[in-house]
Amino acid sequence: MSKYIFVTGGVISSLGKGITVGSIGTLLSRRGLRVRLQKFDPYINVDPGTMNPQQHGEVYVTEDGAETDLDLGHYERFTGVPVTRDCNWTTGQIYQEVINKERRGDYLGGTVQVIPHITDEIKSCMRKLAGDDVDVVITEIGGTVGDIESLPFIEAIRQMRADEGIENTLFIHLTLVPYIKAAGEVKTKPTQHSVGKLREIGIQPDILVCRSEVDLAEEHLRKIALFCNVNREAVFEEKDVEHSIYEVPLVLAEQGMDELICRRLGIDTDSPNMDDWLRVIDRIRNPESTVEIAIVGKYSLKDAYKSIYEAFDHAGVACRVKVRIRRVDAGQIEEDGPERVLEGVHGVLVPGGFGQRGVQGKIAAVRYARTREVPFLGLCLGMQCATIEFARNVLGFKSANSTEFEPENPHPVISLLSEQEGIKNLGGTMRLGAYKCLLEKGSKVRGAYGSDVCSERHRHRYEFNNCYRDAFDKAGMRFCGLSPDGQLVEIIELADHPWFIATQAHPEFKSRPDAPHPLFCSFVSAVVDYGRAREIPRVADERARQPETGAPVD
Ligand code: GLN
Repeated sequence: MSKYIFVTGGVISSLGKGITVGSIGTLLSRRGLRVRLQKFDPYINVDPGTMNPQQHGEVYVTEDGAETDLDLGHYERFTGVPVTRDCNWTTGQIYQEVINKERRGDYLGGTVQVIPHITDEIKSCMRKLAGDDVDVVITEIGGTVGDIESLPFIEAIRQMRADEGIENTLFIHLTLVPYIKAAGEVKTKPTQHSVGKLREIGIQPDILVCRSEVDLAEEHLRKIALFCNVNREAVFEEKDVEHSIYEVPLVLAEQGMDELICRRLGIDTDSPNMDDWLRVIDRIRNPESTVEIAIVGKYSLKDAYKSIYEAFDHAGVACRVKVRIRRVDAGQIEEDGPERVLEGVHGVLVPGGFGQRGVQGKIAAVRYARTREVPFLGLCLGMQCATIEFARNVLGFKSANSTEFEPENPHPVISLLSEQEGIKNLGGTMRLGAYKCLLEKGSKVRGAYGSDVCSERHRHRYEFNNCYRDAFDKAGMRFCGLSPDGQLVEIIELADHPWFIATQAHPEFKSRPDAPHPLFCSFVSAVVDYGRAREIPRVADERARQPETGAPVD
């Protein structure tokens, strides 16, 4: 029988609840427990895929093609356990389900209410992850306790304890303990209030995790325990980590978090084996050199490209380098030109995206990388931009474009499948989730994957237009990754460039700290070679060049 851990958040949003949940997952799965992770989002949108990345960060795509909240990316990266469409639910989806049932007459004319109908639906989504092959389901409740939208979810977890038994459920509350600079003090009052809010609804947290910028003294932790009615051993400190989010599981393990969770849930296992995780952290802390890669995007919110940043951190571990990201706004390239904006970078990545804004800047960035032989990786829209650039500047189709940006174009090198001749009509729907791809013998990408086949996640509507395959092929673009039926171009590379690969998929979603993605590793390794040829600074030299600040360097 599965046990349940529910994680709520207090005081403010953006405390890094997803990272804490992922970290607990890391520790439990490394104790040999079979865990599943899940998030409920209080917003009313039915489809998180339509939410603006500028407001809400990246849309994370699962193997089975669900468009989800970016925290699910943390869950997969921290635990290696795949997430599915059952792992992310919004208020909108829950209500839609209940309303559909009401329309079908399932409630037999009864009055449909938040309690029990909405809460029952929420509980049934929680139980979807449970089963004989799952030891612990960890459920994150998005939002902040006290928000009007989160109430039904909090009520549902209160009921879960009554249904499943106190010995099978655990409430963890993540809260903020702010440091007030002017007073030189940390304040426990916001935590007391947010735990008070939980108690009003009938939930007494079992474990508190206190996020803080500074070290918390024993007296603060004792005070929190006393005022919040929690044992001192169940109050954990989660200070901002210095180097990497992957240090968080270690911070919690040091204080005995996983040990306490197992004891409270009556689970008996050995301590987690963290040897390989420690090796990853050691490499993150001690890179041998630094390279700089430009990500030419259009969303200024850092979270909009979350999985790409993470994939670079993982590949950096594999290549023993620190990958510094230069966040480049494609619009700025349009204004100032790529030479100025991209000057000095050792690699260029053009990520995915939707809509016309910034596309010209991205195409200019591709041209810069292609003509100067700077390593280039294109992801999804990045591959489409690489195709358009090649058509315009190598094949001489000056007006080439994607029909997404210009429906009536004479050279639609990227188009909807429904617009292409001889291909079964898939309509304008999105290609979502994992698709297999066959890799051509002798290609760089096959070398990178070390295999003749790969499977990556997709999220796009437009495709390479097959009418142009011959023309591109003759000019030196290789279609080295194709769908198994040969109809869809999945990966392209340039024959006469040191490292120029672009894929229609999103490989960034499959990179893990303990299993870096082969394509990102190969790219970063090419970036290191490129940088070495131009003498990238070794970390030791960089430190020596730092101005004296009076503070010790190490
Ligand atoms: N807008 C493009 C398409 O729909 C690319 C999508 C993406 O980059 N994820 O095909």
